[in-house]
Amino acid sequence: MAGETAFPAGDLMKGKRGIIMGVANKNSIAWHIAQQLHAQGADLAFTYAGEALGRRVHPLAESIDADLIIECDVTKDASMDAAFAAVKEKWGTIDFLVHAIAYSDKSALEGSFVENTTRQIFKDTMDVSAFSFVDAARRASEIMNPGGSMITLTYLGSERTVPNYNVMGVAKAALEASTRYIAKDLGAKGIRANAISAGPVKTLAAAGISSGKHLFSFNRLAAPLRDDTDPRGVAGAALYLLSDLGLSCTGETHHVDAGFHIVGMPDESALKE
Ligand code: NAD
Repeated sequence: MAGETAFPAGDLMKGKRGIIMGVANKNSIAWHIAQQLHAQGADLAFTYAGEALGRRVHPLAESIDADLIIECDVTKDASMDAAFAAVKEKWGTIDFLVHAIAYSDKSALEGSFVENTTRQIFKDTMDVSAFSFVDAARRASEIMNPGGSMITLTYLGSERTVPNYNVMGVAKAALEASTRYIAKDLGAKGIRANAISAGPVKTLAAAGISSGKHLFSFNRLAAPLRDDTDPRGVAGAALYLLSDLGLSCTGETHHVDAGFHIVGMPDESALKE
């Protein structure tokens, strides 16, 4: 399988079972994370949004021996109920959850935030991109063993303005704050919750953001590592946070973005390239 050798093998996740929400295709960040967790011995269940994506997710999931592959639209309670019930029925308990889900109407991911963010778009973006983690965390915590761990994926557009990211930046701010409250509440059960703030990675979701090309080239030129964000680094951070390596780490937003988030002003040479 492509990419298999790219992920360090071991047994850090041996005996652990978890749910991966958000694989759309082989470029998805969730798929990189899934491959890394599998290489470390985890058993994985996958959820996917809709039949069309199911046709892509099934062969990927099956290539790493997953047989729990469930359709789940996070905006529908019945769909969430059914997905978590299927996991509970098959496994009883889980040890981790990966939430890698976001959506906004394309019309809001360009131009003016103030002009293009309608009430409906604001609500829908928040629902899919922020509330769904709160909802999934609650459901997952009901079947999660003590010592369990959950992560979500966020982006720097929550902390700073990024052209065209607009309402998604607002939803990511809510997602990061939600992660802290989830960590606070579930800490009493011995469950950790963290967010990974990834730099730009070429995926379906990234393609939805207007002038994404500029986003990638500016990040590459201005980041201390002068490179794109490697999704294998995101997967490595996920492994740390989801395994016992991450003991005592909760409520954190961990940046994996070639260092872009620390830059106040890029080098002049970067701007000229
Ligand atoms: P992706 O398009 O591969 O994944 C997004 C996923 O969200 C898809 O699997 C899609 O089916 C799912 N989704 C959307 N609406 C849904 C719904 N109603 N119900 C269930 N699932 C739904 O793109 P990705 O870049 O891998 O995105 C994963 C996460 O990473 C997102 O939260 C995204 O914001 C975040 N992220 C991406 C980047 C990047 O540059 N690609 C950077 C930082 C953070």
